[in-house]
Amino acid sequence: MIVILFGPPGCGKGTQAGIISKDINIPHLSTGDMLREAVKSKTEIGLKAASIMEAGKLVSDEIVIGIIKDRIAKHDCFNGFILDGYPRTLSQAKELDNMLDKQDLKTDIVLEFSVNDEVLISRIEGRFSCADCGAGYNDQSKLPLKEGKCDQCGSSNFIRRKDDNRETVTKRLEAYNKDTLPLLPYYKEKQVLFSIDGLADIDNVTNELMSLIKK
Ligand code: AMP
Repeated sequence: MIVILFGPPGCGKGTQAGIISKDINIPHLSTGDMLREAVKSKTEIGLKAASIMEAGKLVSDEIVIGIIKDRIAKHDCFNGFILDGYPRTLSQAKELDNMLDKQDLKTDIVLEFSVNDEVLISRIEGRFSCADCGAGYNDQSKLPLKEGKCDQCGSSNFIRRKDDNRETVTKRLEAYNKDTLPLLPYYKEKQVLFSIDGLADIDNVTNELMSLIKK
């Protein structure tokens, strides 16, 4: 099964991708996570992408298409995968279709998270995560149960993404509205697009996504 989670930064698609990935046992592929890893390891791609990401702009199609091509060729993707943050441009979507076509595959479902920009900005500003195990938290909606200690691994080491500030988020939303939203008609025409309320609480969103995926 090939699932695309589609929506602006901060809409909750990363959280949901993690949950669904465990539930249906296919990998969660986030180009944002892969790029952040490349930046951290200072690879050639990471060095090219760092300043672009910090400015809230899109990394070049060439780079992200290459990353996805390599990743979906790996063995754990043979039964499908969940894409989070890819595609973000029409060229990326078309290239994905070409890659899938070659293996007689196609995107099964595109789930669009609809949300309001102001809510998104304050959600993103509140985001932080455990530096040791990656568990995600939010100042407004999900603080650790014990102050200053990660619920999952007990670490006190928390981090915030460099691009999770109002100025960069506004830029990321502009990039989404300009380059990524125009992809919706592309998937609508293929009759694989479904929209869900991204502002509902996490469990309700998961239930809605799962019922659409299992249809
Ligand atoms: P994300 O974690 O999905 O919000 O991505 C963080 C940043 O990585 C974005 O603001 C972009 O700079 C870059 N990025 C991630 N995925 C893509 C993509 N598919 N195309 C271009 N840039 C991307």
